[in-house]
Amino acid sequence: MNPRYARLFEPVAIGPVTAPNRFYQTPHATGMGYLRPKAGAALRGIKAEGGWGVVCTEYCSIHPSSDDSPYAFLTLWDEDDTKALAKTAEAIHEHGSLAGIELWHGGAHSTNKLTREPMLAPSARPSCFMQPPAARALDKADIRAFRRWQAAAAKRAVEAGFDIVYVYAGHDYLPFQFLSPRTNRRADEYGGKLGNRARLLREMLEETREAIGPDRALAIRLAVTELHGPTGITHDGEAPEIVSMLAEIPDLWDVNVAGGNGKDSKSARFSPEGYQEQHVQFVKSLTTKPVVGVGRFTSPDTMIDQIKRGVLDLIGAARPSIADPFLPAKIREGREDEIRECIGCNICRSANNEGVPLRCTQNPTMGEEWRRGWHPERIPTKRSDRRVLVVGAGPAGLECALALGRRGYEVALAEAGRELGGRLLRDSTLPGLGTWIRVRDWRAHMLGKLPHVSVFRESELTAENILGLGYEDIALATGSRWRHDAIGTLMEEASDVSGLTPDDIFAGATITGSVVIYDDDHYYMGSALAERLAAEGHQVELVTPAPIASAWTEMTNEQDLIQARLIEAGVNITPLRRLMALRPGEVETACVYTDARATTECGTLVLVTGRIADDMLYTELTLDETRLKDASIRSVTRIGDCLAPSSIADAVFSGHRFAREFGENAPPAPRRERPPH
Ligand code: ADP
Ligand code: SF4
Repeated sequence: MNPRYARLFEPVAIGPVTAPNRFYQTPHATGMGYLRPKAGAALRGIKAEGGWGVVCTEYCSIHPSSDDSPYAFLTLWDEDDTKALAKTAEAIHEHGSLAGIELWHGGAHSTNKLTREPMLAPSARPSCFMQPPAARALDKADIRAFRRWQAAAAKRAVEAGFDIVYVYAGHDYLPFQFLSPRTNRRADEYGGKLGNRARLLREMLEETREAIGPDRALAIRLAVTELHGPTGITHDGEAPEIVSMLAEIPDLWDVNVAGGNGKDSKSARFSPEGYQEQHVQFVKSLTTKPVVGVGRFTSPDTMIDQIKRGVLDLIGAARPSIADPFLPAKIREGREDEIRECIGCNICRSANNEGVPLRCTQNPTMGEEWRRGWHPERIPTKRSDRRVLVVGAGPAGLECALALGRRGYEVALAEAGRELGGRLLRDSTLPGLGTWIRVRDWRAHMLGKLPHVSVFRESELTAENILGLGYEDIALATGSRWRHDAIGTLMEEASDVSGLTPDDIFAGATITGSVVIYDDDHYYMGSALAERLAAEGHQVELVTPAPIASAWTEMTNEQDLIQARLIEAGVNITPLRRLMALRPGEVETACVYTDARATTECGTLVLVTGRIADDMLYTELTLDETRLKDASIRSVTRIGDCLAPSSIADAVFSGHRFAREFGENAPPAPRRERPPH
């Protein structure tokens, strides 16, 4: 280990328990929840194996009145839940780490769609989500019941084997709704002045402590700013008073930024590493207890800096531990060059928002630990001496070559361009997406350690070339290109309208007059291009048939930030309109509801609609089976965007999956968790 990083491996006492080092995996959603306990346990176990000294669960409901369906949350409502969660604690303990559990009650910030229990809140209010049910105010008997639920869940947490039990007052959830003057309008001893609004939190801490007994640690998770301006809790307003009031009661302070729309886990497009420091740095001066915070930390130097400057005692991580569960082990072993750094794309957030198991752009094994038995650091060795040619060095080809190489296969990776990276080379030049090149950098670096993988640049292969090269197995990762015919998600028929595509813009196409970007893709490309072109001084209008700009980025918790940035950049956003015609100097659009027509000035039209696989090589190669046989080619397989254009995460996954399954007789179907009959 580099002695500079030794402090990261010091044990830290958290009340009666001791974390073996300063690496703390803070609670984060996994999309597993109570429905997929085995997958959840395996995922957390891998984190512990990778060296995280503390590994926490995701939000774990204490009572059916806090139900986040259809999203995946944990439950500690009964004995069955206790047994299921014991598996997670065991998986974490197996590697000598401490297991933490985040007990949760959402109050008005839950859905209760499964349980159909009325939502609860300090004061009667509409739901935090756009849905018909409103939340009712807790009366005194409800508050007493609520305190009993927390204590009962805490007891179950201990029974399940957890070492650190949370009182969770963050993210707009019930205890936080009591704290914030925005949401607490009570006139009794639980409302009004701060001491009253913090009363429930204090009671919860004291009663949870009693429930867990002397051998387990008590953690508080507090949002020290809710980013709602002065009407809410802020780090330079009431938060220091709250911390002072409760300073020595818990054994650990887990502090972060909260508020709606995932402001605690902002994407790299909107925040740098360590961006929460300005909000949380005051906490350590007000308590003697250890403090943990997050900030997408991937650099050991930044981590050490946080400790040395007294900002944090424990380095909290959700996303960096998802992108590389073995980050601590790599630092410990002096292999920090091998850390697979999170790129801050928030694809992991999208999994929870879509109610499906966790996935990650950088780490294709994430979420597949139990289901497919994939390990982030171990991969079965090769079954034969077959040699594989991978064509195309974008995310899919790079990952495929690397994973095949790690299995011991001899691999040639051929890339038409001079530089490796495929679409990453272009996309990472867009505003705020610079970190995305890490997907290429990490793989290119790791490939350099594998002497049996040869990389050929400036090697644009034809079908004839491939037939003559003598490789038995071919993986085609030749990517995709943007469509010129305007077919997109909501526009299903090809139109006569033709414009530039993002590929043309990246290739340096000339832009004249005002720019209309027609976005029927709804992910990042339309808005990022708009931002770039506006910054270059063009007048830009973003037209989309969706009601909002970059609509799918609601899943990555970026949409509101994107919309705000476009507005600030002077981009004119025209929602709910379909593209109909392009005429000299203007485009015609139609209202998606009424078909009412309108025209917009347009010098340059950019179509950000669908993408088409670049699979010509596949078509040519598979046209004539005898030619393949004569060339002794056993298989030709498309991977990544060449098979089906999608996200970078899906391309990496596709390349990895090909490598895992290559040469295996019959790869098993992914396992599924089924409820007991
Ligand atoms: P994916 O996301 O599936 O990895 P990309 O579009 O990012 O796809 O990358 C595809 C890569 O394949 C590009 O770098 C491109 O230059 C390369 N490529 C395409 N056709 C050929 C070819 N015939 N020979 C070699 N490389 C190719
Ligand atoms: Fe980081 Fe993206 Fe992976 Fe999430 S999905 S952990 S943001 S690389």
